[in-house]
Formats: sequence, C-alpha cells, structure tokens
Amino acid sequence: MPEGIFDKVVKIAQSRGFVFNASSIYGGLRSSYDYGPLGVLLKNNIARLWWDSINDLDVQIYPVDTAIIQSSEVWKASGHLAEFTDPMVDHKPTGERFRADQVPEDIKKEDLTEPRQFNLMFETNIGPVKNENSAVYLRPETAQGIFVNFENVLRTMRAKIPFGIGNIGKSFRNEITPGQFIFRTREFEQMEIEFFCDESEEDKWFDYWIENRLNWYRNLGIPENKLRVRDHDKSELAHYAKKTSDIEFDYPWGWGELEGIANRGNFDLNAHQENSGKELSYFDPNNELKYIPSVIEPAGGLTRTLFAVLLSLYEEEELEKETRTIFKFNFDLAPIQIGILPLSKKDELITVCGEINATLRSMFRTEIDITQSIGKRYRRQDEIGTPYCITVDFDTLEDKSVTVRNRDTMQQERIKIEDLSDYFNNI
Ligand code: ATP
Repeated sequence: MPEGIFDKVVKIAQSRGFVFNASSIYGGLRSSYDYGPLGVLLKNNIARLWWDSINDLDVQIYPVDTAIIQSSEVWKASGHLAEFTDPMVDHKPTGERFRADQVPEDIKKEDLTEPRQFNLMFETNIGPVKNENSAVYLRPETAQGIFVNFENVLRTMRAKIPFGIGNIGKSFRNEITPGQFIFRTREFEQMEIEFFCDESEEDKWFDYWIENRLNWYRNLGIPENKLRVRDHDKSELAHYAKKTSDIEFDYPWGWGELEGIANRGNFDLNAHQENSGKELSYFDPNNELKYIPSVIEPAGGLTRTLFAVLLSLYEEEELEKETRTIFKFNFDLAPIQIGILPLSKKDELITVCGEINATLRSMFRTEIDITQSIGKRYRRQDEIGTPYCITVDFDTLEDKSVTVRNRDTMQQERIKIEDLSDYFNNI
C-alpha cells in the first residue's frame, strides 16, 4: 500500500464526494458519516454485486428487507438484551471511556476503572408515552430479522432445505470506541445470509460459504495477500456460535474483520420458538421428519467493505511531471463508468456530449464533465476511478468519432459515435 494511505484515501473520499462527515456544518458528530453521490453509487454497486452473486448459486437464497425496529421480544430471545455487551473502562484523569480491549497503549493500567458491562443496543421508545413498556431497540444486526421471518419465507416460498435468506440494511451499535473512519461506526450497513441446512451438513456448508465469500471479495478486486481467514478459538466464540471464522482484511493498522462466518447451530430458531410459542421447525417431505434446521451465517459489513475496496484499489503512478492517483475499480464496481468530456466549453461540443449521454446513460453510469482543463478533468476522473473517458473534439463534428481513453493504460482510440454502445457492452 502507498505510504500514508489511510489519510490519502480518507481525504479523497471526502474531497471527491464519496463520504462526508455527518452534520459537518455544525462541526460534525464524532464517527458519524454521510455518503455523498459517488459513495452512494459505490455502495449500491457493492450491494448489487452481493445480491447478484447469491442469485447465481445453485442453492436458493431468498431476499428479505426487515424492519430496524422489531418487538423487544426478539432481542430477549436472541440474547442481545442480556448478552450484547462490551466491557467498558473509564480513564480516571480525563473521564474518557474505552472498550476494555481497545485502550490506547500509552494509558497506564492504574488510571483505569474496573471494567463494567455496557449494552451496545440503542434504546428508544415508540408512541407518546415513555416507559418500560414502550422501550424498543434499534437493531444491532440484520440477522434476527431473518430468523423471525423463517416461517414466513418457508411457507410463502415453499422453500426446501438447504436454502438461505439474505438481508441488507442498517444496523446500530453504541460502540464504545468507534473509529478508523468508516471501519467502526455506530450506524453501519450489513449484508447477512442465514443459510438453513441439516445438522449433518453443517461443516460442508460452513466451508462452502467461506470459499464463496472469499471469492466474492477477490472479485471486487481485493488482492489475495490482503485477505485471510482466521478461526476463532473457543474463548472468543459468541454465546450462540459452535464455530466461527473471520474473513479479515489487511487494513493500514493491521488485520481487521470484514465478515464473520458462524455456525449458529439451531440456537436462534430454538430460542425464538421457545420465546414466541410458535413452531419454527422444518418438515422434510423425503423422510417425513420434522426438525429445527442448523444455520450457517455469513455476516459481512457493507460500509466496511466499501472502505476495504477504497484502500485496496487506490494507486499512485509517477508520471513525468506529477503523480497520478487512481481508484482501479473494475467496470462493474466503478461509481461512474464513462466520463463524457467536451474538449472545450464550446456549445457545439457540449451538445454532442449531451447526445452521446442520452444514448449511453440508460445502459451505463455516465457523467458529463465540463469544468477545468482537459488534463485536470482526466486526473479527476482517474481519481474517482472512472474506467473510460470519451472526449468530444472539433474533429468529432466532421468525422462523427470520439476519442476513448482507457484509465489504466491511458491509451486513446478513435471510435465512431454509433459504435460506442457496442464498444462498452463488450467490455
Ligand atoms: P467487531 O469484532 O469488528 O466488533 P463483530 O464481530 O462484532 O465485529 P459481527 O457481529 O460479526 O461483527 O457483524 C458482522 C459484520 O458487520 C462485521 O464483520 C463487520 O463487517 C460489520 N460491522 C460490525 N460492527 C460494525 C461497526 N461498528 N461498524 C461497521 N461495520 C461493522
């Protein structure tokens, strides 16, 4: 990774419109971020590639989009009300608060209070009366929304085991020590699958999902040497997990989790069956047996992946007179796929740009970029990771052709306007 990459990527993310500090006109809110135009496009692309990849499988994965606010019974059954806690310590001289395992190295142990358990769920109330009965929680994971819909999906889709249910959406955790830009925030997006299978096949599907999810990260363009799988040892396992492995990314500060793959056994369905009194078992028509299936859960972070993608695909290239900075997004992932640039601000060139845009924009993510010199505009498009730029010049008015510039090779070729759709469709 280029030196100082963390600061460089954060700076471009903010200056080019990927991610802004939330409430910035009021001085910002610590560890809260807004996604700007390019950030939304990139995040949507990552989410789309996630849905596409699970749609392509031989096994069926059904999509759901579940509520952020669920009945508090959900969190009672899942164990979150009792167990979703982190040990917290206070630094006595300053009153600063840290997660017990994330105290900065320069702080002396004797200056810290004894650890206390702190529940990470954000509590709020529904309705006009604020009391114990109106307390609800912002979901700390999307997974439970899937478990409580297991029976709904099973029945309405006539699902047959093995099958999965996928959910993407916002989750909220009142993290004691958020930080490292969008790596750890209190409001973030998750992409989770609960995959229901027979208990005898837990290990097979666990291995399947590790390989499947690793491949997905590779296909985003994250290099092999920046990814690893780390198995949790027994002491690390969450209360529901029989076995967990993390897919980790080599962040500038060291290895950190991108996604956790857990064998949750039948903990959750059992717990919800017990707490709700509703039967949550599966009837296997082949052997006429009824059972509560096991679950393998690949639980990834959408916003955390977006950051890993930015860090992985940022490159610097020394040119004769300057350094060129590039996000090497592949064509599918790039927020803008094709920049359309008039050589100068002349009306007749801008009109042609508009005509080209009108044909391409229904198939591709395009942008007309008019302001500044052509050189500066190429640099901007490189910096936001646009794989191709079309330049409309004065010859275009005569020969009905444009120059197409490739971001990575900087090679330019002359293409007829009428051939542009085919050209980009064949990439
Ligand atoms: P960590 O150990 O980093 O706190 P976790 O093991 O608690 O993460 P999970 O509960 O397994 O995380 O959540 C699944 C995924 O959701 C994580 O792999 C991560 O990508 C994402 N995620 C979890 N917490 C956050 C957060 N505070 N900010 C951004 N993404 C998060």
